[in-house]
Amino acid sequence: ASGYTLLRDPQYNKGLAFTEKERDAHYVRGLLPPAILSQALQEKKLMQSIRQYQLPLQKYMAVMDLQARNERLFYKLLIDNVEELLPIVYTPTVGEACQKFGSIFRRPQGLYISLKEKGKILEVLKNWPERSVQVIVVTDGERILGLGDLGCQGMGIPVGKLALYTALGGLRPSACLPITIDVGTNNEELLKDEFYIGLRQRRATGQEYYELLDEFMSAVKKNYGEKVLTQYEDFANHNAFELLAKYRTTHLVFNDDIQGTAAVVLAGVVAAMKLLGGNLADQRFVFLGAGEAGTGIAELIAREIAKQTKAPIEETRKKIWLVDSKGLIVSSRKESLQQFKQPWAHDHEPVKDLLGAVKVIKPTVLIGSSGVGRTFTKEVIEAVSSFNEKPIILALSNPTTQSECTAEEAYTWSKGQAIFASGSPFDPVEHNGKTFLPGQSNNAYIFPGFGLGVVISGAIRVHDEMLLAASEALAGQVTQEHFDKGLIYPPFSGIRKISAHIAANVAAKAYELGLATRLPRPKDLVKCAESSMYTPVYRNYL
Ligand code: NAP
Ligand code: MN
Repeated sequence: ASGYTLLRDPQYNKGLAFTEKERDAHYVRGLLPPAILSQALQEKKLMQSIRQYQLPLQKYMAVMDLQARNERLFYKLLIDNVEELLPIVYTPTVGEACQKFGSIFRRPQGLYISLKEKGKILEVLKNWPERSVQVIVVTDGERILGLGDLGCQGMGIPVGKLALYTALGGLRPSACLPITIDVGTNNEELLKDEFYIGLRQRRATGQEYYELLDEFMSAVKKNYGEKVLTQYEDFANHNAFELLAKYRTTHLVFNDDIQGTAAVVLAGVVAAMKLLGGNLADQRFVFLGAGEAGTGIAELIAREIAKQTKAPIEETRKKIWLVDSKGLIVSSRKESLQQFKQPWAHDHEPVKDLLGAVKVIKPTVLIGSSGVGRTFTKEVIEAVSSFNEKPIILALSNPTTQSECTAEEAYTWSKGQAIFASGSPFDPVEHNGKTFLPGQSNNAYIFPGFGLGVVISGAIRVHDEMLLAASEALAGQVTQEHFDKGLIYPPFSGIRKISAHIAANVAAKAYELGLATRLPRPKDLVKCAESSMYTPVYRNYL
């Protein structure tokens, strides 16, 4: 390849870091100014320039440009500055980027599969340049974060999630494939927007929708084999539950909103027991939001309690109550409930809203997963704080605008009693002369390590036990030092080590269940996970 092409290939380009000898050997001489900068110096320069932007969206665009220009430097930045850049490439800024995707769109990333590609999906997959894909993140854009239907502009989510697969979990960038399935959108604003990049039609549903997804799932297996992990992301719940149920027995699939979220929240709640000094089985849970996240989390918690106490899951579910847009889910509503809510319809008189539910159930753990901001009001937080010394309050909805409450509200209204974490990050809060560090309860802790565990073991199916294994490994990474600060999650700065432990535990479970195909089983799975992780240092081209 010519030097000119080399500089334009993000996989190989290293900008001013090409050495004298490399410039000669690869016909780059003269195509670059004479200075030679080390990768460390390039990193310093880029971080300085990113920090100069006032708006998060400008930072997002700068970082995405870097990804398209110099992939290794992009990942070096992300890994070394994870706490600073996570809110840019991921929630909350990625949400804003999706909302404005049409107008900031420059170069396509990932694959777009729309209704126009029906009958040709296998050909579309073959247009992708990489042969050895290990992880696909796919969305249909119908429920992007808590922002609703963003149609084709949802692509920002698979792109961001896969950047984290590489930065946090160590999967090779070339093994990661973001995909958006475009079946239309019901978002009126986008349909009217002259710059909209997607299909300008209302969403296909029913048979038309499921036929396209079926063609997609078959094409994926045909093209990449049995061991490619397909992660469903930000589908609306009616499709999400159905797709997972349909494909989990025949394909290697995983729904991050249902399963990944469940594992991360369970880990946080388990870790919080160290701060409370109680058992999981002694807790009472109230959820606001009974969709993918809410029912997924509830089920995994019920399973874990059943495992710990040997009680049947039908019993352990009774400790968990869910509130949806119509109020507390109770047995008298059973007839009209969607299937995924039915296990949560316990006997109780109707209660119309969250505050009412909190007052009668008296939860020790309050979890927000409704996608609606500002729903943990002062009254709600004062109520949970009135019957708990340390209420656990998790405001999971993303992005920040949809968070059930802010960290400041949680600490102020609970008078500093709350153990608080949120889906999108908040800064530390000063309250009565004390500093409170809010944790981030986000599935980004789980999916990168989970995916790595699946890949290193060559697992061919995802089993719920593997999610419990991931959760257990994450909870195990919270140290006394973190507890002393009131944290129930370890900081993201140590995420690659955390991911290696999650991967090892997931892989161990896959071997135990007979789902692993990479034989013989490596003896030390943590070492195996660590050594298989991609590192973004420049390679020598001589
Ligand atoms: P979903 O499946 O659409 O579920 C939303 C649920 O909230 C539904 O049960 C809905 O009630 C309920 N709801 C909506 N408005 C409500 C209101 N005003 N009062 C009471 N309940 C209301 O969505 P999801 O996938 O679970 O996601 C929900 C939120 O969680 C999103 O903001 C998402 O960003 C966030 N999330 C966070 C993480 C994380 O890692 N932190 C992971 C996944 C999702 P009906 O059923 O009655 O309509
Ligand atoms: Mn999601």
